[in-house]
Amino acid sequence: MKNYIVNTDNTYLFNNIYKDMDILCDKYNDLLSKKIIGKSVEGRNIFALKISTNKNSGYTDNKPALLLVGGIHAREDFSVMLVMKMIDYYCYYYNEEDDLDEYNVKKILDNCDIHFIPVANPDGLYIVRYGLEASSNYSVLKEMKIWGEDHTFWKANANGVDLNKNFDDGNWDIRLCIPGTDVPCSDRFKGFKPNSEPETIALINYCKSNNFYMMISYHCSGNCTFWADSGTHNLFNGLDEKIIDEFSSKFIYRKTKISQDPAIYGCGFENWFRKRIKRPAFCIELSPYVEGGRQHPDSMFNELVWKYAKHTGLFFGEKTVEIYNEINNDIEKYAALTK
Ligand SMILES: [Zn+2]
Repeated sequence: MKNYIVNTDNTYLFNNIYKDMDILCDKYNDLLSKKIIGKSVEGRNIFALKISTNKNSGYTDNKPALLLVGGIHAREDFSVMLVMKMIDYYCYYYNEEDDLDEYNVKKILDNCDIHFIPVANPDGLYIVRYGLEASSNYSVLKEMKIWGEDHTFWKANANGVDLNKNFDDGNWDIRLCIPGTDVPCSDRFKGFKPNSEPETIALINYCKSNNFYMMISYHCSGNCTFWADSGTHNLFNGLDEKIIDEFSSKFIYRKTKISQDPAIYGCGFENWFRKRIKRPAFCIELSPYVEGGRQHPDSMFNELVWKYAKHTGLFFGEKTVEIYNEINNDIEKYAALTK
């Protein structure tokens, strides 16, 4: 019988997520490690977990790495469940030296480190689970507008800032907040200045201190992928499109049009990553589209998300190695990607 740790049959309780991180790190201690990369507004740890087989593979420091991120938007907890479950499965299959369907897990992980930040916005997730009253910032939060029916629609961090509009990608001044979201609230406020939030800074510092060749940020909903923006698309000399074309031929996540207007797309984590790290980044919207920011019941994760997305980390691991080789074998062609 296959022995997995992460149970996604229903709501993945807050404490269980963190307990499972420890259990996984204990169980796979040769393979998986955990690090605190920063603290949230309310002082919660933000963790990154890393699968690295450096010990066995003979790679030196410049082994390429892939970053997978969940939970930037609080209510989109399918993304947290997916990232945690990928850690569980990928470690399991690596240890067993077994293929996960058509993916050779051992080969992929021996050639690419995969880093996971399962809960990028822990305070937000806490609010979604336990209500505004449970937040130590309640006296401030209770004055903020909730865009939606109740606290389960919360998307921001505990300062009422939408983290995926807070990154300094050069578009801060023109980034629009639609009327009503230009003050702290549950959804879409970009903050009072770029990079103002501790969660934003944690992600930025972590990206800058690792050898990431690609980043995937998981959200809900729409079953589509945002893969390029007009401000950075030309940098990549076709690399980004080659990857998205293959991805959308193998997975259900529809290729969107290139995001054209920085006043609309600017300051997202993926936009920042493309601009500042100069590597491709993809924002994947999991699960079928739902109106008004509503989420599917957690009990539907396995049938709506896992079934379709479980290989995505392995797919992008393969692509990370491919673009690492491609970029380094033709420095001239990819001169715009020199950091
Ligand atoms: Zn989102």
